[in-house]
Amino acid sequence: VSVEFAPTSQQQFLAASSGLLPKPEQVAPGVWAIAAPIPMGQLTHTLSYVLRDELGRLHLIDPGWDSDHNLSVLAATLITLGFRLDQVASTISTHHHPDHLGIADRLRREYGAELMLAAVEVDVLAHETRSVESLRTDYSGTLDRWGVPSARWVELEKSFDRPVLMGPVTPDRALADGEVIEIPGHPLEVVGTPGHSGGHICLADRDRRILYSGDHVLPHIFSGIGIGFLPGTDPLADYYSSLTRIADFDEFEVMPGHEFRFTGLRKRCETIAAHHLHRTNEVRELSGWLGDARVWTYAENMTWTGGFDSLSGFSLHSALRQSEMHLALVRSEAPGAPPSLGSTATRELGS
Ligand SMILES: [Zn+2]
Repeated sequence: VSVEFAPTSQQQFLAASSGLLPKPEQVAPGVWAIAAPIPMGQLTHTLSYVLRDELGRLHLIDPGWDSDHNLSVLAATLITLGFRLDQVASTISTHHHPDHLGIADRLRREYGAELMLAAVEVDVLAHETRSVESLRTDYSGTLDRWGVPSARWVELEKSFDRPVLMGPVTPDRALADGEVIEIPGHPLEVVGTPGHSGGHICLADRDRRILYSGDHVLPHIFSGIGIGFLPGTDPLADYYSSLTRIADFDEFEVMPGHEFRFTGLRKRCETIAAHHLHRTNEVRELSGWLGDARVWTYAENMTWTGGFDSLSGFSLHSALRQSEMHLALVRSEAPGAPPSLGSTATRELGS
């Protein structure tokens, strides 16, 4: 039985389109959705989830941005729900981005909250936060391999020099795909969904038929792909597999990391896959006559809003990265084709 796509919280839905923060709301027995403000970028807030276990302790999924402001917002929000910060016993982050994992380490330091993150994502974060020299050298290698004309190197390197928002983290518990986190009254199954980032996970509560989807699947926005991944992996191929995998939770209500909760996951997964496949198909067609040309040449011949010539700085970087991922996938499909471009180091720590 396929459920049609539908928002399940009107106030979250209205908040998402108005740019206001939604009010905290109970979304299931022992589960509340709260908003954690994001101080930069296009998204106004993360949806965090508060789980109250049978012992009265709290567990936060995606606790949100690390700032004094957010800590006081979190404290005040918990009070409106009748809770306190010192009840927070653990945090589980779907991935390493600062709007999700952000404040987890501070909650551990100040309140002793056990920090949980997927083992793969720990490695991804370590890779993303390696030395500046190493990041720069690798990025030069990337520009060279992409075939970027020398006149464009400076702006790309400059766009790449952004503040580091996260440090490496050693979790108290490194999660593996398939394991169950035994929170009393809230057993959560870890579902590995790499793609948005290399070690992204969703969390399935089979009793309540809830899927906490992080940024893997959002109801309206198309999440970025490959925002932090390990060398030698193929983020786009992983993302497609992760969409297929998660579609099996079609009858679950989805609690995403942004926007609003919804039902109709399979339909949403199909829409997202079609959106990206459109691009993959474009690159596949181009490969018929561009052959083993480099990423720059492919990007020049692809369709971009406003045209390729209008891209500069970080938007140019993103376009090239996107082209590379689609090209890697297309080349991995064809027998006898040049080897996959592989993956390269980046420091893309967006949401
Ligand atoms: Zn996010």
